[in-house]
Amino acid sequence: MMRGKTFIISGPSGVGKSTVLSALLEKRKNLYFSVSATTRDPRPGELDGIHYHFMDAESFRKWIAMDQFLEYAEYVGNFYGTPKRFVDEAMDKGQDVILDIEVQGALQVTSKRPDTVKIFIAPPSWKELERRLKDRGTDDPEKVQKRLLRAKVEFQTAHTYDYFVINDTVEDAVRELDAIITAEHCKPKER
Ligand code: 5GP
Repeated sequence: MMRGKTFIISGPSGVGKSTVLSALLEKRKNLYFSVSATTRDPRPGELDGIHYHFMDAESFRKWIAMDQFLEYAEYVGNFYGTPKRFVDEAMDKGQDVILDIEVQGALQVTSKRPDTVKIFIAPPSWKELERRLKDRGTDDPEKVQKRLLRAKVEFQTAHTYDYFVINDTVEDAVRELDAIITAEHCKPKER
């Protein structure tokens, strides 16, 4: 059986990655979403084991010590990490795996696994990003500003990604991501 491929989606907080990803996962049944571990509190509607594995900082540190993470990073005061085991199990089963991770984590993954495909999702404008972050209503104004600042720094790394997708409408962004995954599977192995 052919091993699956790994895809990374990065992009500013509030750009709509989760919405786009849920629609993409509906469309591509062979795509496995890597559920990250995080020390941040769940948002309303977020479920443990579905959206994140929510854990305290001590458990997170234990996982680091036991080398359980493919990558991990600190983001606006919390830790986030990709559990290695589930990614490898899915790939061994021939599934493609998609990671929704920020840019430091993306760098760690590509340095370990250079064949990973990196996709950057950008908002149509900064104004629109600010509006989406405020409308989400899950962060206080200070956290919103921190996330916006971080987004501007992350945006400077967008040119290091393999693909750039603008999330103007969800349908268009999903169509483009779907096309990227298909195209990656059409590439000859050795080039
Ligand atoms: P949020 O708190 O909005 O769910 O996520 C904040 C940021 O953390 C987002 O940019 C998201 O892509 C990133 N993130 C989520 N899971 C992981 C992970 O496992 N590793 C890393 N490095 N970043 C993650």
